[in-house]
Amino acid sequence: MADWDYEFFWKETLNQMYEELGEQEFSRWFTLMEYRGATENTIILGVPSNFYREEVKRRYNIRIEEKLKLIIEKDMTLVFEIVQQPKKTIVQSERTEPESQARKSSGEFKEEKRGGDDSHQMKKTDAPAAPPVQSAQSVQKRHPQLKLDYSFDAYVIGDNNSFAANAALAIAKNPGVTYNPFFLYGGVGLGKTHLLQAIGNYVYANSPETKIVYINTEAFLNEYVDALKEKNMSSFKKKYRYVDVLLMDDVHFVQEKEGLQEELFHTFNTLYESNKQIVFTCDRPATELKKISDRLRSRFERGLNIDLQPPNYETRYAILKKKAESKNVAIPDEVLALISKNVSSNVRDLEAALTTLIAYADLVGKTITVEIARQQLKDVFAAPKQTNMSIDIIQRVVAEHFKITPTDLKGKKKSQNVVFPRQLAIYISREITEFSTTEIGQAFGGRDHTTAMHSCNKIRERIQTDPTLDSTIQSLIRMIKEYNAKG
Ligand code: ADP
Ligand code: MG
Repeated sequence: MADWDYEFFWKETLNQMYEELGEQEFSRWFTLMEYRGATENTIILGVPSNFYREEVKRRYNIRIEEKLKLIIEKDMTLVFEIVQQPKKTIVQSERTEPESQARKSSGEFKEEKRGGDDSHQMKKTDAPAAPPVQSAQSVQKRHPQLKLDYSFDAYVIGDNNSFAANAALAIAKNPGVTYNPFFLYGGVGLGKTHLLQAIGNYVYANSPETKIVYINTEAFLNEYVDALKEKNMSSFKKKYRYVDVLLMDDVHFVQEKEGLQEELFHTFNTLYESNKQIVFTCDRPATELKKISDRLRSRFERGLNIDLQPPNYETRYAILKKKAESKNVAIPDEVLALISKNVSSNVRDLEAALTTLIAYADLVGKTITVEIARQQLKDVFAAPKQTNMSIDIIQRVVAEHFKITPTDLKGKKKSQNVVFPRQLAIYISREITEFSTTEIGQAFGGRDHTTAMHSCNKIRERIQTDPTLDSTIQSLIRMIKEYNAKG
């Protein structure tokens, strides 16, 4: 190895990373990394384990290389060497099931029998924990735009997502035939990109000749703008109008961008008319997109529109279990249960908590216990979550919507213009917070839990008969969450 000494520059890079990340994050990821040497264009760093290497690469590689480029004034690549075998740190405890009041799963996975390879079969939440699936995809060639981890195999089904996941699989089996377009929407970190790419991976695995394009709408915008600037529209159009499966992520990004909407509208029509599959993901229902043309909105609404909801406790637990297995670490079930209980906002946060814990155990060489998990994740657990949303906010938003007051909701009035909003607010409280019916009853003027339960049942019944109610509820929930996010 040629002897290039970049240690001085490396130290400067570390200083800058420290400034940016703060002590806690910096010490978690950088103190066990050592400068091992360099060649002309690479810096070699020692790290303690494979897991650590992957995480550091995923989190910081780009940022570090950008800094090095500024500091050394040339392109440098980082090379990681594992200098110490990972310690076997995490032990499997006795198997304890999570609170299993709900082994029920209305989210039945309706996979019909298929001939041949069933390696793509999804697992239901309450399926027994299976060993990591050795699927065809793990040896499969990767589609350049898709992440292989985003497979149906890896997607855990629960009540919150079974409809969407089943539709996605049906589409993957018969693109352009069953549901077109498919418009999948839901909040951040709930698995939209995962399902979208799972469709692509599945189609690609089964017929690699199919032309699949995955694009995030922001990237689509950039390409569109570049094409305009370079007067290269024909190749842009060709790229997007001659595809068999168009997977377009985060389409809410078209809001307020008229030219882009126009382009997408024509792309849509061309593909749709030739029965090509189009799948969109979006952070909200099409009806709630602002500043988009009616004709584009109506295209979004034309096919199947399905939402993803946050996973419940059992599904969160099943997801964690599966993630832990796929990372090949055994973590005591009670630790998984603890995380599932405390991180309820979305799957991304859930995964982040797990990763933090594994990293800690990996670095410090300790066995993960409930105490350690509590200690290491105390900031995560303390963070404001949707589930900590106060009933107060729900009452304010619902009252305002129905032009009554929060006091009405908590009071004794029995007129229908108050009773229905009250039942609805109680129902929503039960849906989006973790408060018990007892606590909810209390917050609604000291009613008892049976009253709260009765309200929830009433609303459930009404949803069955009133087709518009569900969308009213969803839009109220959205407003509540926005209100909550603003603090
Ligand atoms: P979104 O696009 O909705 O913001 P992502 O698809 O990026 O969310 O999901 C965030 C993370 O959570 C990803 O790592 C994804 O693999 C994981 N995830 C989400 N839902 C599930 C699920 N049902 N089963 C397994 N992993 C999931
Ligand atoms: Mg996404």
